[in-house]
Amino acid sequence: MFWDQQVETAGRTELERLQLHRLQETVRRVAHIPFYKQKFTESGLKTGDIRSLDDVRRLPFTTSADLRANYPTGMLAVPLDDALRLHTSSGTTGKPKALFFSRKDVDNAAELCARSFVMTGVTKKDVFQNMMTYGLFTGALVTHYGAEKVGCLVIPAGPGNSERQLLLMQDFRTTFIHVTPSYALYLATFLEKHGINPRRDLALKKAFVGAEPYTEQTRLKIEQGLGLDVYNSYGLSEMNGPGVAFECERKNGMHLWEDHFLIEIINPKTGEPVLDGESGELVMTTLCREAMPLLRYRTRDITSIIAEPCECGRTHRRLNRITGRSDYMLIVRGVNIYPQQVERILMSQPGIGSNYGIHLQVLYEMTGRVELAQTGFDGQVEHLMSLQNHLAEKLRAEILIKPQVRLVQPGTLPVSEGKAKRVVDNRKL
Ligand SMILES: [Zn+2]
Repeated sequence: MFWDQQVETAGRTELERLQLHRLQETVRRVAHIPFYKQKFTESGLKTGDIRSLDDVRRLPFTTSADLRANYPTGMLAVPLDDALRLHTSSGTTGKPKALFFSRKDVDNAAELCARSFVMTGVTKKDVFQNMMTYGLFTGALVTHYGAEKVGCLVIPAGPGNSERQLLLMQDFRTTFIHVTPSYALYLATFLEKHGINPRRDLALKKAFVGAEPYTEQTRLKIEQGLGLDVYNSYGLSEMNGPGVAFECERKNGMHLWEDHFLIEIINPKTGEPVLDGESGELVMTTLCREAMPLLRYRTRDITSIIAEPCECGRTHRRLNRITGRSDYMLIVRGVNIYPQQVERILMSQPGIGSNYGIHLQVLYEMTGRVELAQTGFDGQVEHLMSLQNHLAEKLRAEILIKPQVRLVQPGTLPVSEGKAKRVVDNRKL
């Protein structure tokens, strides 16, 4: 099923011609913004210099720090009167990033979400329960309007309050949800505890899971626990929010809507492009945004491109699962560790629950607190010790250092209802 078949299946040449035209327009649109004006002057670039898609490399990068430095309105390309909506993206420290949408930007963002939903078989008959956080964060509003565009009944539930989520899912026969992986796992445990068998008692068919990186093992766990199909989704507030890239029914990589975004994968250290299929940092240039177009935005997300055509017929290239953040990497005893590596090991072990935390207290030690599954512990201490050791060894094989593993009762660790905070780093370096 297609939302916009002509665009979704456009030939490569046609797509690239459209991209080049839109890239040239975008460059002209940002040229008067002081930040870009200065960058263009420094490198001697004229707006007419962009003659091919490869010329994108002559354009300056834009970073998260640049957006913060130009807060609140420094990156606006239109008069404030023409901005229709403001979202912000929170950082770990300091000022947020202000992200503006024009009327057309708001509509385009919903359009891309509609495309993405329909790609997985959603129709106007579906009922959408949105479990993302409503508010300044783009996560909920953009998908909300996307589902309305398709014609679905939309329930703006927001995250948390699992009793109410269950009530809504039962009474309104919810068929698809949009949720973070950590809350999806929590919800699965909640249903189990309350004797709800989702396949028997609920109408759920699909979940769109995003906003936090997660592993294939976690996907399987959510699919089993909630009795539905999980589709990966990718988005970031700087690029409209959700709807940048979604999986189709093949569930093998996320189609990135290339008529709206120009993508590059670079080596995060050198800024140079990597070979096709190699992993690196995703860099994106907006092609349609009016209020706040961005050139070569450094997403910090590590992924790779699947260039082969997809069986579904869509020509927009696919992104592989995000495997980490180029700036979110733990270094313990000089070893680089992505939290997703730890998650992949934990989630593939029988007897292990859904919640875990990584604690770094002293310089050379990493401690993982891991919840047991409801049925994971038979009360025998020696079994517990042996499972702890087994996990520590499995982790050592993956991340090259042996962490301390402490297994704890299900429900012991704090539950996050938004983005999960898995890593606590209290080291004084
Ligand atoms: Zn496909």
